[in-house]
Amino acid sequence: MSNALQLDETTLRAIVDQVVRNLQHGGSSAPAPAASSGAPAVVASRREGRFGVFTEVSAACNAAHHAFRQLQPLGLEGRVKVIEIVKGLAEKNAVEWGRIEFEETKIGRLAHKIEKLQIVKLVPGVEWLRPYALSGDHGITLEEQTPFGVIGAITPVTHSVPTICGNIVSMVAAGNAVVFNPHPGGARCAATAVRAINEAIHAAIGIEHLICVIAEPTLDTFNALCAHEAIRVLCVTGGPGVVNAAMKSGKRAICAGPGNPPVVVDGTGNLSKAAADVIKGAAYDNNLLCVGEKQVFVLESCAERFLNELARAGAAKLTSNQLERLTAVAFTNSKDAGGCSHPVLNRKLVGADAAVLAQHAGATVSADCPLLFAETDADHAFVVEEQMMPMIPVVRVKTFNDAVAAALKSEHNYKHSAVIHSLNVEHMSQMARALDTTLFVKNGPSVAGLGLGGEGYLNYSIATTTGEGIATPKTFTRTRRCVMVDNLRIY
Ligand code: NAD
Repeated sequence: MSNALQLDETTLRAIVDQVVRNLQHGGSSAPAPAASSGAPAVVASRREGRFGVFTEVSAACNAAHHAFRQLQPLGLEGRVKVIEIVKGLAEKNAVEWGRIEFEETKIGRLAHKIEKLQIVKLVPGVEWLRPYALSGDHGITLEEQTPFGVIGAITPVTHSVPTICGNIVSMVAAGNAVVFNPHPGGARCAATAVRAINEAIHAAIGIEHLICVIAEPTLDTFNALCAHEAIRVLCVTGGPGVVNAAMKSGKRAICAGPGNPPVVVDGTGNLSKAAADVIKGAAYDNNLLCVGEKQVFVLESCAERFLNELARAGAAKLTSNQLERLTAVAFTNSKDAGGCSHPVLNRKLVGADAAVLAQHAGATVSADCPLLFAETDADHAFVVEEQMMPMIPVVRVKTFNDAVAAALKSEHNYKHSAVIHSLNVEHMSQMARALDTTLFVKNGPSVAGLGLGGEGYLNYSIATTTGEGIATPKTFTRTRRCVMVDNLRIY
């Protein structure tokens, strides 16, 4: 049987589309090299679709589907090569890619943008795929993790290139290809990274479009991606709007949704370490991390000491007047459908430096001040909204039960992340049960939950809304069972 007869409809369409386009462009493109396995060669060069960067969703999805077919015969070895390329390039280009992401998005801290790329090497690869085997009187059964095909992925502006790199490692380890519809605010750096990654993959294993990206993403391209027949599953990393849109798309969606991680400090532990940990997590990349500490509930009995420790560890305190001035700039008020007023985040201040926020507050802090803090009540906009700014509200509570109740309310049942600083195991268990978050960190900064200072592995997509947890290759697989009846088992 010839190779051509084995092609499915989507692959055939990709080939036909490509041939037609090449004819329209004067037919001068060279054929892409076939994968070493002898997979069918497709004429893949096209000005707008070089090395995975596309303006058209359908062309990207078809090209990715063809690339998925090319990857299949290369086995685990091919996937491992791709992962090595992505991890190697993320580390080698961390300074350059971090800089271009910082210049494009204008949020966060350059040093942390660079670091987030340097640590992509901590994201787990093919070693995570472990088959499950059964052997019994009726023979042998093997359950294996197999790829979906092409995944449609949505990435946030808060970590454009790191999320893309982490997603590629997990998705390709599982044997998939991917089409990214990045946040428009981080689309240029996304295209730069994807192009470089595909160039290296092409040079190593002859596949040009394993990782595709839409160069000018919009809501229309998101909808087209969700609707395309080659897209078998969606992976969304973002806020409530895109999570809801993906869940309504009719496709299966793995949703790494919003968070608003509360911290409880009960005074039984080391308060100076608690303060330093809160600063480490909440100040990281100017509090853009979804896991980052967003509000603290501290027991009245130790509140004064904890606030002093925050200041001693380098955070700057805002007075209530200064907080009021900052709040007036950081939020506007809007009425929802039911007529209730609620605060709306001013996106211009998201990821701004503490010194910039301080200026808006009418205060002066040094340019390298990591974090601002202020005392608020539990209903303050900085507590209620996922503010993504290096300004942490601290709320005094009378009892531990009050702390847990307030933390639960502020987390909005996102089931994302929470932190406790305590040596009381009953308190830890009570808060863990009440909030039931995907990540629950005890006595450390929030980033310890991502394997950074705590045990575990890293990824930038934490599937909180749909429950898969921190993404691994297994997150992007289907389970298939192979059964051999009676034979093979010799005892
Ligand atoms: P965002 O929701 O504004 O954008 C995320 C992506 O969704 C972007 O690509 C954007 O273009 C797209 N988008 C937004 N609204 C859409 C809609 N209605 N339909 C279709 N597409 C839409 O989020 P952001 O500001 O880029 O990132 C911050 C948010 O992402 C925070 O809520 C944060 O908690 C969350 N986040 C979660 C994780 C996680 O792993 N759980 C990781 C990073 C960020």
